[in-house]
Amino acid sequence: MKSDISIKSIISMIIVISVLATGCGKGSESVLTDDGNTSESVDTKTYKEAEIEDTTLGKSEYSNKESNEEAGNKASSEAWTNSSEDNSVDTAYDSSCAGVSTDNDDTKGASDNDKIEDTNQNKGDKSDMDSTISSEDFYVSEITDELFEKMQGKSYKDDCNVPREDLRYIHILHKNLEGDTCEGEMVCHKIIAQDLLEIFEELYLNDYPIERMVLIDEYDADDETSMTANNSSCFNYRVISHTTKISKHGLGIAVDINPLYNPYTKIVDGTRIVEPAAGEPYLDREADFPYKIDEDDLCYKLFIEHGFEWGGSWTRAKDYQHFEMPDFVADELRATYD
Ligand SMILES: [Zn+2]
Repeated sequence: MKSDISIKSIISMIIVISVLATGCGKGSESVLTDDGNTSESVDTKTYKEAEIEDTTLGKSEYSNKESNEEAGNKASSEAWTNSSEDNSVDTAYDSSCAGVSTDNDDTKGASDNDKIEDTNQNKGDKSDMDSTISSEDFYVSEITDELFEKMQGKSYKDDCNVPREDLRYIHILHKNLEGDTCEGEMVCHKIIAQDLLEIFEELYLNDYPIERMVLIDEYDADDETSMTANNSSCFNYRVISHTTKISKHGLGIAVDINPLYNPYTKIVDGTRIVEPAAGEPYLDREADFPYKIDEDDLCYKLFIEHGFEWGGSWTRAKDYQHFEMPDFVADELRATYD
């Protein structure tokens, strides 16, 4: 009997060990293909997104997606590419993300289609131009003819003296508050493009919620409308009021994140200005609400790490949504363009 039990125990142990070994083998496969520095967070992300996939997409949808995706993409060892292939999150954003804020569903559908076409256009162009590319989902490209056309008279005004060649288009993925993966687009100055890409990659990996990031041209480059829609944005050509100085957004070196919940405020002639006006309820920075940026916030930490300054630290005004490059960077650029 005794020897029977020990043999059984040994067999059980062998079975347990083999099961564990098989499980570990699968897990370590993805770890090995990823960059050593990011393997831990990538593992977490893959796991989390696999969960999302299970709950938001039907199995058949997942299978279709897999069979439609060509195996060629697997050539890239980028974590992004691997993850998006594994769980089809990149199809999820069209149905689950808000896109341009509008009450009209038809308009929304049309604009989503436009957006997909734009993305394809840019994807096609980036390989031709050999721009800086981090992956299929997170990449920087030059301003294509199609995009430049779209920006005309909107974010790229007639008197804009920032050359198109110095601007970049950024394509990213971001999470919204519900955890859906959304497509994000932004135009910025080339000197911060790589930093923004790294910041948004990190935010995405950490499920940091950004509600909307569509080109500000979708709102005719009207800042108030875009901010009210809680749209995150960067480049929008303009001069500082009552001066001929190009603003930092005009240079493409300032970024606004979740602006509705992180408004700009200043007292002018005894009257409090709030932009966007709809952001007034969020002036109370002690209150608890989603999308709030403060000094404990990951978004804040990443922008500071990358050399940006935060408008929430200003004393004469507060601009909680706003991260910008320091003045000397702006002055150098202005000197070049004036
Ligand atoms: Zn700003």
